[in-house]
Amino acid sequence: MTSRLAYTIIFAILSAALACCAFIASRSRKSIGKTVALLEMALIPPVLGNMLIIASGRREVALLGCYIYFIGWDCVMFSLLHFTAVYCKGCGNGQKIPAAAYLSLALDSVQLLLNSVFGHAFDIEPILVDGYAYYRLIPLFGQTWHRITVYGVLAAIMLVYAIIIFRMPRIYREKYSIILISMIVVCILESFYIFSRSPIDRSMIGLSAFGLVTFYFTLYYRPHKLLDRMLSDFASDMPDSLFMFDPSGRCIWANATGCELIGIHSEEEYEHAVEKLTALFGTPERTNEEINVRRAVGTGDSKQYFSLAESKVMDENRRLTGSYLRVRDVTDEHQEIKRKMYDATHDRLTGLYTREYLYTQISERLASDPSTQYYVLFLNIKNFKVVNDVFGTDFGDYAIQRIAQWIESYAHIYSIYGRLGGDTFGALVRKEDFCAEELEQALGSFRIKRNETQYHVLLQLGVYEISAAERDISVMFDRAHLALSTLKEDYHSHISFYNEEIRQKLLWNQEISAQLDEAVRAMQLRPYLQPIADGSGKIVGAEALVRWMHPKHGFLSPAAFIPVFEKNGMIIEVDRHMWRCACEILARWKHTHPDMFISVNISPKDFYFIDVVAEIQAMVKEYDIDPRQLRIEITETVMMNDAENRMTILNAFRELGFLVEMDDFGSGYSSLNMLKDMPVDVLKIDMKFLGRTKDQDKANTIVRNIIKLSQELGIASLTEGVETQTQYEALSDMGCKLFQGYYFAKPMPVDEFESFAGIA
Ligand code: C2E
Ligand code: CA
Ligand code: CA
Repeated sequence: MTSRLAYTIIFAILSAALACCAFIASRSRKSIGKTVALLEMALIPPVLGNMLIIASGRREVALLGCYIYFIGWDCVMFSLLHFTAVYCKGCGNGQKIPAAAYLSLALDSVQLLLNSVFGHAFDIEPILVDGYAYYRLIPLFGQTWHRITVYGVLAAIMLVYAIIIFRMPRIYREKYSIILISMIVVCILESFYIFSRSPIDRSMIGLSAFGLVTFYFTLYYRPHKLLDRMLSDFASDMPDSLFMFDPSGRCIWANATGCELIGIHSEEEYEHAVEKLTALFGTPERTNEEINVRRAVGTGDSKQYFSLAESKVMDENRRLTGSYLRVRDVTDEHQEIKRKMYDATHDRLTGLYTREYLYTQISERLASDPSTQYYVLFLNIKNFKVVNDVFGTDFGDYAIQRIAQWIESYAHIYSIYGRLGGDTFGALVRKEDFCAEELEQALGSFRIKRNETQYHVLLQLGVYEISAAERDISVMFDRAHLALSTLKEDYHSHISFYNEEIRQKLLWNQEISAQLDEAVRAMQLRPYLQPIADGSGKIVGAEALVRWMHPKHGFLSPAAFIPVFEKNGMIIEVDRHMWRCACEILARWKHTHPDMFISVNISPKDFYFIDVVAEIQAMVKEYDIDPRQLRIEITETVMMNDAENRMTILNAFRELGFLVEMDDFGSGYSSLNMLKDMPVDVLKIDMKFLGRTKDQDKANTIVRNIIKLSQELGIASLTEGVETQTQYEALSDMGCKLFQGYYFAKPMPVDEFESFAGIA
C-alpha cells in the first residue's frame, strides 16, 4: 500500500512538473519554445495513465489508464518527431520527417482504440503483490504492434541524432549528445519494465526526467565551452593587439598580434610586457583611472600611429579582477584623415591653398598679428582664355602650375598664398616684405618655358593695403582685383594699387546703376540725333545717341555710363528705351517724311540676354512703321562669339526688312575677309582710328580700298567722324555714299534736329 501511494504521489508530482515546464516553454520568446511545450505536454499522458493503473483498485479505471498510457506513447513519439525536426534544423538532417512515420503512429493509435471492440491488443488481470491487489497487463498481438511502431520511430530518431553528432564539429556535439543519451536511458528503462512485467512502470520517472532535461537544455543551457572557445579564438585572431593584466598590473596573456608588436615569444616573457609597452608608448596618462590615448611611434615615413584603450574588469561586488589593454594600429586611418584634410585645403592642380583655406589662414594671421601692416595681392593672368584657346588647355594647366611654382619660389617666408580660382592667385604679404620695383621687374621678365620654347604670359598684380579695422577677406581681394582695372593692356606696368580713384569709380557705378530705372521712367535718358548726309549734303537720316540729363550731375555723355551698363548687363534697359524713342519719332515723321531713317545701337550684351529680333519687331508693329526706317547698328564684337547664331539673327532682321549696319568697322578685330560672309547692308567706317595716323596717304589708301571692296560686295559704305570739308570731298571721290560727323553737325536734341533737317 505504501509503495502504491508513494508512486502515485511521485507520478502526480512529475506530471505537474511537466505541465509547469510546458507552460513556461509556451511563453518563452525563443522560437523553439512552442515545440518544447508540445513535447512536455505529450509526456504527461503516459505518466498520468500509469498513475491511474496503480492508484486504483478498480478494473475500469486501470483499463482507462492503459488506454491513456498507450496512446500517450504515440503522442510522445509524434511530438518527439516534431521536436527533432525543429531542433536539428540547419544540420542537414531531421527537417524532412517522412510522412510514413506520422502515419504509422496514427494507425497504431487507431488499432489501440479498437482494442475496446476486438480485445486484440491487451487485457488486464488482477494480481497480488506483497498482499496488495494490482492490475497487470496481458500483452496480446496489438501490443506487439504498438511496441514495434514506437521502438521503430524512436530508433529512427536516435539514428538522426547519432548522424548529426558524428558529422558536427566536436564543440557542437554536446547539444545533441545530451538529448540522445537521455533517449537511450529512457529506452533501456522502458525495455526493462516490459520484460520485468512489473505492474508499476518505474521507467516513467526516466521519461519525466527526459522531459526536464530537454526543457533545460533547449531553453536555458548555454554552451559555455563553445562560447569560451569562440571568444578566445576571436581575441587571438583579432587584428588589434590585446594584453590582459591581473589586478596587480602584471601581464598574464597577450594575443599573437600583441606579442608581435612588443616582441615577446613565449609565456615566460609576459612579465616583461609592461616594460616593453612603456618603452614603446611611454607612460600613458590616465583619465578617470582608464587609458584612452593616441600615440605616434617612429619617425618620417615609417611613422606609425596607435590608439591605446584600457578597460577594467570588475566582479559582481565591483572589485577589480583585472584589466585589458587594446592597442590598435590607426596609421591608415590617420593618413586618410590627413590626406582628406590636405585635399580639402589644397588645390589639386598646383598644391597651393584653396581659396577657402587661404581666407581662413589670412583671417587667423590678421587676428593674431594685428599690429603689422599687410598687403593683399591679387594676381591675374591676362587673357588666359586666349592662352587656353591658342595653346590648348593642357598648356593652360601647365602655365598655371608654372606660375604657382614661381609664386612659391618668390614668396617671402611670412607670406600666405593660394589659388583663388581659374587663373587667379591671392596672397597676404607684410608691407615691409613687399618691394614693388623688384616685383615689377620679375613680372615683366616672367616667361614660361616648355620644350625649348619660351612663352610670354602677361601677369598682372592688384594690390590692396589692409586698413586696421577690416576683417572681410573677400572684400580685400575684390579691391585688389579692382585695382587691375586701371592697368593698361601694355606690357610695361604689371602692378596697380587700389586707390581713392578706383573707389570713387566703384561708388559711381553703384550710384548710376541704382538710378537707371528711375532715369528711364522720368525720361532723363533722351535720344540725341546726329544727322547723316548723302553725297549732295542732304540730310537723309540720323543716328540715335543716348544722353542722360542727370538731376544731380547734369548732362552726361554715354562715356560716363554706357561702359558701366555694358559691363553689368543693364545696357539692355538703355537700348530698349532708345529703340522705343526712335520708333516714336519715326511714327511722327511717317506721313511727312517717310524716307527719313534712324539708326539705333544694339549692344553685344543685348544679343546675349534677349531676343532682339522679336522685341524690335514688336515695337515696329506697335508704332506701325516701315522696318526700312529703323536701321540696326551692330558692332563687330557681336560676331566674336557664336558667329553662326548671330548671322542667323542678322539674316532674320534683313528678312523682316530692316537694314543692318556694321558699326565702327576697322576699329576692332574684324578683317576684310570676314566681310564677305557678313549679312550686312551698310558698313560704317570709323574715321577716328584713321585720324590718329600721321601718314594720311596711307589712311586714305586703306579707306579707299575698304569702300571699293564693299562696293564689289554690294554693301553701301558710310563714313563716321567726318570733321572737315577736305575729308568729305576726298571720301566722296572714293565712292562713299553716306556721311556722319561734326562737319555736318554734332548729335542734338530731337526738336533741334527737326529744324536742322527742315522737317519741323
Ligand atoms: P558710336 O555708336 O560709334 O557713335 C558715334 C560716336 O561718335 C558718338 O559719340 C558721336 O557723338 C561721335 N561722333 C560723331 N561724329 C564725330 C566726329 O566728327 N568727331 C568725333 N570725334 N566724334 C564724332 P557718343 O554719342 O559720345 O557715343 C559714344 C558711344 O556710346 C557710341 O559710339 C556708342 O557705342 C555708345 N552709345 C551711344 N548711345 C548708345 C545707345 O543708345 N546704346 C548703346 N548700346 N550704345 C550707345
Ligand atoms: Ca553707333
Ligand atoms: Ca560708330
